[in-house]
Amino acid sequence: MSWHPHLWHPTTQVATSPEPLQVRSARGSELVLADGRRLIDAISSWWVTLHGHAEPAIAAAIARQAQQLEQVIFANFSHAPAEQLATRISALTGLERLFFSDNGSTAVEVALKIAWQWWRNQGSGDAAGLRRQVIAFEGAYHGDTFGAMALGERSLFTDPYEPLLFAVARVAWPHSHWGDDAVEQREHHALRQLERALETPTAAVILEPLIQGASGMRVVRPAFLRAVAERVKAAGALLIADEVFTGFSRTGDLFACRRAGIQPDLMALSKGLTGGFLPMGVTMASERLYQGFISERPEATFFHGHSFTANPLGCAAALASLDLLQAHPERFQQFELRHTPLLEELAQHPLVRRPRCVGTMAAFDVEAGEASYLNPVGKQIQRHCLEQGVYLRPLGNVVYLLPPLGISTPQLEQCYGALRSAVDALA
Ligand SMILES: *Cc1c(COP(=O)(O)O)cnc(C)c1O
Repeated sequence: MSWHPHLWHPTTQVATSPEPLQVRSARGSELVLADGRRLIDAISSWWVTLHGHAEPAIAAAIARQAQQLEQVIFANFSHAPAEQLATRISALTGLERLFFSDNGSTAVEVALKIAWQWWRNQGSGDAAGLRRQVIAFEGAYHGDTFGAMALGERSLFTDPYEPLLFAVARVAWPHSHWGDDAVEQREHHALRQLERALETPTAAVILEPLIQGASGMRVVRPAFLRAVAERVKAAGALLIADEVFTGFSRTGDLFACRRAGIQPDLMALSKGLTGGFLPMGVTMASERLYQGFISERPEATFFHGHSFTANPLGCAAALASLDLLQAHPERFQQFELRHTPLLEELAQHPLVRRPRCVGTMAAFDVEAGEASYLNPVGKQIQRHCLEQGVYLRPLGNVVYLLPPLGISTPQLEQCYGALRSAVDALA
């Protein structure tokens, strides 16, 4: 085997990476490789596989839908799968309107464009009180398209494009872990920073509720989010919750905002939306925002649309996935209890620092080298775990598990066993 002559893999440096593994099939929590080896997919294939691979109920729903209506232009037309999905997610999020796109980055772009244009449509566009500021948090990741990159923390990933990214105000993200006794101080500092930033007229504040994923599974306390939401509301700015990662049960409730007790004005959803079967993103918006676009003036229209808007196959998959989630809430509500004893035991290891766990996500930092995405320790751990039949993908020195809901207890124990021997091998 060698690198394919016609493919270009994502976030992959060919000069220094091993060749990709050939996958033949997948089922439940397992990937089956072309050479017959089996691997536990301990990170849900970049956080998308929700119940398990090839979940039969979702596969069947897609097959049925494909024979009925595979796609139709969504300007001038509507269809039952889209309408049912909008009704159900509205009821679950308290946000009445659903706008479709194709992935997490576009769901964020749409949220930002709605927020920005809503203020303009309000007539503040030429008034002195124009709200031009957008606030985001340190360590944020909101996607790889330009608007989403601009909202995200500047990093190795965004450096080449720096001159093309618009400026945002940044506020500290007081992330925490088990046994952290300095968190209140950091929360206090972050809230003061936010208050100062909000003195400038602000269109929107965007955050990843409960867990910042890509920057290293950085967990904040629900009370901090409630304090942020209060201040954003008091300043009259719009709150955007990027639940692309946290949405659909990852944090132990259907949405992290529900678990934290905050109500945003806009919410971006994608990864788990279709159970991990098909690419689709949605942006939920409040009725108040929607009404701000209804006008005889053509320029008040939200002129944004993607070719595959509301793809019926994606909608059918999302409906089937929601059915499963709502029929078995115990699968995600109890997940923390499955991680906790295993993570507690692993956390005894001297190289394992800052353990944390929210819902289906468990993470720790490895105390070796610097805290950076380029820290090679993650690759060492990845290689070691692969040999033990477990696939994971550390973020530099941050190691995390994010298994599908259907992972069995022996499989989960195998993941922790592999991690244990991987950190032992470092020592
Ligand atoms: C993955 C992710 C995105 C981007 O989603 P894509 O589907 O990869 O474009 C945006 N926000 C958060 C919080 C994410 O985790």
